Amino acid sequence: MNTLFCCPVCGGRLFRETGGYRCGKGHSFDLAREGYVNLLPANRRHSAFPGDDREMVAARTRFLDGGWYEPLRKCLCALTDEAPGEAPALLDAGCGEGYYTSALCGAMLKRGGHAAGVDLSKAAAKRAAKRCPNAEIAVSSVYHLPVPDESIDILVDCFSPLAAEEFRRVLKPGGLFLYVVPGPKHLWELKEVLYDAPYENTEKQVDYPGFRFAGLEPVETAFTLRGTEDIQALFHMTPYTWKTAREGAERLREREEMRVTAQFRIHRFIRI
Ligand SMILES: [Zn+2]
Repeated sequence: MNTLFCCPVCGGRLFRETGGYRCGKGHSFDLAREGYVNLLPANRRHSAFPGDDREMVAARTRFLDGGWYEPLRKCLCALTDEAPGEAPALLDAGCGEGYYTSALCGAMLKRGGHAAGVDLSKAAAKRAAKRCPNAEIAVSSVYHLPVPDESIDILVDCFSPLAAEEFRRVLKPGGLFLYVVPGPKHLWELKEVLYDAPYENTEKQVDYPGFRFAGLEPVETAFTLRGTEDIQALFHMTPYTWKTAREGAERLREREEMRVTAQFRIHRFIRI
């Protein structure tokens, strides 16, 4: 069976074997019970930022399972049609717990292609592997992808750190890069509760060397969260969790119902 991954130690081709992967030089990587593989080199495993912790991942899973972000997921899948060719290879860089990866993988399988997702968080990779049994899931940094040069047709970065240079390295010339960022008023009602003077996210159009900007797709949706658990789940999957003063967090804990606007921007780039 094909793999999108290469050996994180020597960069050589990896081969799938029962229970894991092995390269020609004998470096081997076991599949975890949940179905993901840890391709983070040993010297990077003890980083000060091991990615999202279990509580954050659980909050995100709970929230995303509510289906509130389905319009974004649908739009991402539709945009993959822009990448021509048969049997496309898709990489979800910073796949989290696999909510988007699972649907993107489905879109690839329909075209005879395949999908892989990587995330720095082991807790996230565990969930992603369960959610996406047909995709390859690895623990890895997006800044050092365990993926050969020019091997990917479609790369998706959904609310994850941007590693433009590394993304360019792994994409084929003409490959599609979908970069999802929050719109100006993303989660505005949540911020109004958390902050005395909330500010809008700035919108910027940045050119990345080696990419041609191909368009911007706005996605907007609004929904009503009922119950403190769903509201707290949303709060705990945002960066506001770390940035909010106690008073703001307390105000939010008292809310039992909340109308929320979600605003996304999907930037489309073509790898030159
Ligand atoms: Zn190797």
